[in-house]
Amino acid sequence: MGNAREAVIIGAGVGGLAAANALYRTGWRVTVLERADALRPIGAGIAMPPNAMHALDAVDADGMTLGARVRAVGVSSGAIGARRPDGRWIFRPSGDPVGRRFGYPVYSLVRTELLAVFAGQLPGDAIRLDTTAQVADPGAADQRARVETTDGRVFEADLVVAADGGRSAVRRTLFPDHPGPADGGYVIWWMLAPSLGEEEEVLASESMGKGTVWGTWALNDGRVYAYATVLKELLATGNGQADDPLSQLRAHFAGWYPQVQRILDAVDPASVYRDDARWMQTPLPAYHLGRVALLGDAAHPMTPDLGQGGSQSIEDAVVLAKLLAEADGDVSALASYTAARLPRTMDIVKRSKRMSAFHHASTPAGIFLRNQALRLSSSERTVGLFLRSFDPVFGWKP
Ligand SMILES: Cc1cc2nc3c(=O)[nH]c(=O)nc-3n(C[C@H](O)[C@H](O)[C@H](O)COP(=O)(O)OP(=O)(O)OC[C@H]3O[C@@H](n4cnc5c(N)ncnc54)[C@H](O)[C@@H]3O)c2cc1C
Repeated sequence: MGNAREAVIIGAGVGGLAAANALYRTGWRVTVLERADALRPIGAGIAMPPNAMHALDAVDADGMTLGARVRAVGVSSGAIGARRPDGRWIFRPSGDPVGRRFGYPVYSLVRTELLAVFAGQLPGDAIRLDTTAQVADPGAADQRARVETTDGRVFEADLVVAADGGRSAVRRTLFPDHPGPADGGYVIWWMLAPSLGEEEEVLASESMGKGTVWGTWALNDGRVYAYATVLKELLATGNGQADDPLSQLRAHFAGWYPQVQRILDAVDPASVYRDDARWMQTPLPAYHLGRVALLGDAAHPMTPDLGQGGSQSIEDAVVLAKLLAEADGDVSALASYTAARLPRTMDIVKRSKRMSAFHHASTPAGIFLRNQALRLSSSERTVGLFLRSFDPVFGWKP
C-alpha cells in the first residue's frame, strides 16, 4: 500500500473506528487520533440493530466480515420486551420477530469489546492514543487538509474524518454559525452490573413509568447492561447534579421491581455515568467541508430512544468508504456523502425524538395510550405490522 491515500480520523469511538476499518479495507492508509489514553467508550453496553449488521457485513475483516466478528461477541436479543414499574410485562419477549423480518436480531454488546473488535482489524500503529486533534485547514480539491494536535504534531491528509462525538470541536470549527445540538429534555444514566447469578433470568426489555425508562440487556459474559432516563422536569433535587449518579438512580427508581433493585445493589458506583440527552434539532448545512467529512455524533447526535446513534455512525462509515472507492478516492465524492447521509440521518434524529415523547409519557392519559399501543402491537398477529413501521430504520442495507 505504498501509494495509498492517507486518511486521518479524529476520534476512536464507534464511528471513528468503523470509518477506519471501512477506509482501510478499501485501500486507504489510516491514522486514528484519540484524545483518551485508552479506548474508553461512552455508554457501557450497546444494542446493534439489523441495519448496523448489514452495514458491517459490507466490510471485509480477514476472511470474514466485520459484522461476523462483531456478532461473535454479541448476544442475540430476539425481541425486546416492555414492562411496568412493578415488573408486570406489557409484553414479554419471545421468538425472534426482528430477525425474521430484517435478517438479523438486535445484538447487545459490551462497548469495549465492540471497539476491541474494530481496533483489532487495523494495523498495529494506526491508533494514536493521548492525542487531541483539531482541523487546522480543511483543504480543497487541489490541496491536502491539515490536522494539528495539542502537543504540536501536524498531519497532512487526503481525507480527514471528524468522528469526535456529540461535543465535536471540529464541527464548531467548520460550521461556527451552527447552534449545535439542542437539549433532549431528559437525563440518561448507564452502567454495567456484574452477573445477577444463574438463576436470574435477564431478558432484553425496556420498562416505562411516568416520564422514566429503565432498560436491561444481557451480555455475553453474564454481566448486565442497564440504562435509565428521567425527564428533567421530574428530577427530584434541582437538576440532580448534586448527588452522585447511583444515589440519583436509587431515588428515582425506588419501588420499581426487584430486578431493578438487584442491579442497583450489584453495580459498582464508579461505573455509573450520567449525561444529558441531546439531539441535532438544526441540521448542519453539509456533512463535509473541503476534505473533511463529519460522521456519527459529530454530525447528527440523537436521543438514544431508537438505539440508532452508533448504528448510524457505522452506516456513515460504510457509505463514505463506498462512495470514495467508486470515485477512485477523489474527494469530490464527499458531496455525494452529504447527499446520501444528511437526509437519512436527520430522519432518524427526528424519529428518535418522537419516540422519546412516546417513551417518556408523563400524564395518566399518555401513559395509558403508550401502554395500550405497546400491548396491542405485540401480539402474534400484530407484531409484523408493528415492525413494518421500523422498515425505514432497520431495513436499510448498504
Ligand atoms: C446511554 C446511551 C445508550 C446508547 N445506546 C445506543 C444503542 O444501543 N445503539 C446505538 O447504536 N447507539 C446508542 N447510543 C448512541 C451512541 O452511543 C452514539 O451515537 C455513538 O457513541 C456515537 O459514536 P461516535 O464515534 O460518533 O462518537 P463517540 O462515541 O462520542 O466517540 C467520539 C470519540 O472522539 C474522541 N474525541 C473527542 N474529541 C477529540 C479530539 N479533539 N481529538 C481526538 N479525539 C477526540 C472521544 O474521546 C471519543 O473517543 C447510546 C448513547 C447513550 C448515551
